Amino acid sequence: MHPNLELSPSKTREIGPELYLSPGTRKIVPMTTATSKTASTTRTAVEPLRVSAYTVPTDTPEADGTLQWNKTTIVIVEVQAGGTIGLGYTYADTATAQLITDLLAGVVSGRDAMDVIGSWQAMVHAIRNLGRPGIASMAIAAVDAALWDLKARLLQVPLARLLGMARDGVPVYGSGGFTSYSLEQLQNQLGGWAEAGIPRVKMKVGSNPGDDLARVRAAREAIGDETELFVDANGAYSRKQALAFAHQFAGFGVSWFEEPVSSDDLEGLRLLRDRAPAGMDIAAGEYGYDLPYFRRMLEAGSVDVLQADASRCAGITGFLSAGALCEAYGLPFSAHTAPALHMAPCCAVPNLRHLEYFHDHVRVEQMFFEGVVSPVKGVLYPDLSRPGLGLEFKRKDAERYAAKSHH
Ligand SMILES: [Mg+2]
Repeated sequence: MHPNLELSPSKTREIGPELYLSPGTRKIVPMTTATSKTASTTRTAVEPLRVSAYTVPTDTPEADGTLQWNKTTIVIVEVQAGGTIGLGYTYADTATAQLITDLLAGVVSGRDAMDVIGSWQAMVHAIRNLGRPGIASMAIAAVDAALWDLKARLLQVPLARLLGMARDGVPVYGSGGFTSYSLEQLQNQLGGWAEAGIPRVKMKVGSNPGDDLARVRAAREAIGDETELFVDANGAYSRKQALAFAHQFAGFGVSWFEEPVSSDDLEGLRLLRDRAPAGMDIAAGEYGYDLPYFRRMLEAGSVDVLQADASRCAGITGFLSAGALCEAYGLPFSAHTAPALHMAPCCAVPNLRHLEYFHDHVRVEQMFFEGVVSPVKGVLYPDLSRPGLGLEFKRKDAERYAAKSHH
């Protein structure tokens, strides 16, 4: 063959179809000289994946309106194909790691590393009898993220570029302000973000409603007048209690009221959305695991901004779908926690408003991954010199927190 012909697109297309195997066949076709320039015509099979779980104590006890915790578990998936390793993770129970090992690893093994959506569909199909919400969707999420990272690395592009960038950086809001914090801790944390140039911050309310106005006042004092102040009740208030707080919080310039009532109370959220003061957005969606959940919330007119969490809603694939669904309702979209995981997909969502820069997860991600970027004037910019998510797992640093290991 003439050397020039080897690289011609028409020649590659001609031999391309022969390289594809019939569905169900799991044989790997080795790369040939003719196809080495066109990754799209090769097949790179996913190899058995590796799962590990780590439990990291929080720096101080943390609480919101309806829960308290003192540790965070991260489940990490490493999936290999063609000598390249993709990295994904979720914040979930160790049972999530077990489900990945016992079921999902076998589902994606041998599949084409390029066909992330196909693997996603196969995983969703496989967990039918286990139920989509909860552990199953978080398990899928970790594997899905690893597969996206793997595909981008195989193609040697940043994941933000692979998904397609609607923006070059993602606005964040500083998030913490736990109800377990003293007023001084609250002011130091929120004031610190404001000082670092993050123009919006979020605090928790609802554990002791009698304290909430004083806490919100203290937060406003610490961040000054220019920084946006968000509150999150995690569903702690009753409807009328939340409505009263909405008007009182407005006096301190609160512009975002997250889960004022339970996210299961779609009518209650709608009541707050309709009757909260102008300039105050009602937000929810962090417990969404599948598209029908988000559709019900949007159909009920329950939110001004829909939230979603790629580490829960079956991964980056599910997150992008939720963003599109939200766009169809003409509403902005906001990513919940896990900033290093969300940065690339957030670049790709046209209607994205911002990403939650959650204290707890920022800390774990900086401990566990090399390549985590910090916000610049409140914006996270992906490092486009790094492929995939841009993260490298610091296994040695993680080892001391090992909760369980599955191989
Ligand atoms: Mg929340």
